[in-house]
Amino acid sequence: MPRPEGVWCECGCRITIHHVLQHGFVMSHWVPQFVYIKYQCSNCGRTGQELLEFKSWDPAVLDVPLGEPCAPDSHRLAKLGTITEGEVSQFARELRLVESTELERMLSDS
Ligand SMILES: [Zn+2]
Repeated sequence: MPRPEGVWCECGCRITIHHVLQHGFVMSHWVPQFVYIKYQCSNCGRTGQELLEFKSWDPAVLDVPLGEPCAPDSHRLAKLGTITEGEVSQFARELRLVESTELERMLSDS
């Protein structure tokens, strides 16, 4: 299956704007010829670089698509699974026990 356009790590993770360490243009006679992207993959930690032709460059390829695997936190969230009704009611019960001053402190810390 052909991959959609974009920058991909060797591990199969799609590189997005969150992974970019350095970004620049390679100029020739004051005209950009290539786009240079240096990245670090959040999935495997590998660093890599990509040189793309400027005329076919679209900055949107670094956007984070919804539901994209390898997006930051995706592995942690996938392990946690969906939120159950029991967890929601437990959260509501615990929230009632929190003092308002404690809640204000928790919200100001985040
Ligand atoms: Zn990777």
